Amino acid sequence: MIIVMASRKQEDIDYVVSRIEALGYKSHIIVGVERTVIAAVGDERGKFRLQSLESLPHVEKVVPILKPYKLAGRELRPEPTVIRMGSAQIGGDRFCVIAGPCSVESEEQILETAQAVSAAGAAVLRGGAYKPRTSPYAFQGLEKEGLRLLEKASRRCDMPFVTEVMTPEQVPLVEEYADILQVGARNMQNFGLLKAVGKSRKPVLLKRGMMSTIGELLMSAEYILSEGNAQVILCERGIRTFETETRNTLDLSAAPLLKKLTHLPVVVDPSHGTGRWELVIPMAKASVVAGADGLMIEVHPRPSEAFSDGAQSLTPQHFKQLMEEIRPLLELSGKRL
Ligand code: PEP
Ligand code: MN
Repeated sequence: MIIVMASRKQEDIDYVVSRIEALGYKSHIIVGVERTVIAAVGDERGKFRLQSLESLPHVEKVVPILKPYKLAGRELRPEPTVIRMGSAQIGGDRFCVIAGPCSVESEEQILETAQAVSAAGAAVLRGGAYKPRTSPYAFQGLEKEGLRLLEKASRRCDMPFVTEVMTPEQVPLVEEYADILQVGARNMQNFGLLKAVGKSRKPVLLKRGMMSTIGELLMSAEYILSEGNAQVILCERGIRTFETETRNTLDLSAAPLLKKLTHLPVVVDPSHGTGRWELVIPMAKASVVAGADGLMIEVHPRPSEAFSDGAQSLTPQHFKQLMEEIRPLLELSGKRL
């Protein structure tokens, strides 16, 4: 339920919160430009008891939240969520390009890539230290050493970095290093992991599962938000279809649709979304036009030697070209890097 406050006084808000919590609901206060609203989240069955709060003088009205993703939805919070880390910003009037290798392979590789993507205009570095691989015999990542190397590259280039965390047990270590925690497509419905990153103070980049609907992605975001972490970034990275020419089918309609349904920033990953490097630039441009808040792009200094995802990785030269080609489109969309 949404409790729309008639009063903006802190003591009145505190009083309504205490009444909501006494009824066994969690409260989330949203201070808007026009008015303050309080979301009471909990067991749907006791809704009528919350309705009685309407009789309080400082409450304007009590209305049901219609969408099941109460905290992620726009109903309760129409203004976009903007996430800031150092000089980087995700959401709002800025467009954020996240770039780097699929996996961190060596100090030279991550430093060279970080310098190249930073020089071309990327704001956030990416790189996997813990890799979710289909085969247990494939390269699994440099793990803690990978985190250390990412931190070094990120400091040297003065850009925050995002890296994947695969289990709840890894969260304390990964959050010590990373600026943004990535939850991968394969873990989108790992509810234990979602709860664990929900307790973190670091922003979370949540990738859409390859067999998940947009509604399910939003419910997974809801897990993180309901644990108290408001800094969630959604990532469309392609879904499985009957098509075999591409690794996945990039569902670009997810970008404008998510922007309509949620206040959370939305980034598109055309690297995993297509699996083919030559499709990355056109789909990156299409993502800008579709209204995304950013891109996630895999870049490797020598894609043919990459330990993972070489076929979809751009060279630094092609990445520079991507940045040049999106610039005029960003201007048209009224966004800046
Ligand atoms: C990745 O970003 O390297 C990755 C493994 O992505 P996804 O979870 O989308 O497959
Ligand atoms: Mn990858």
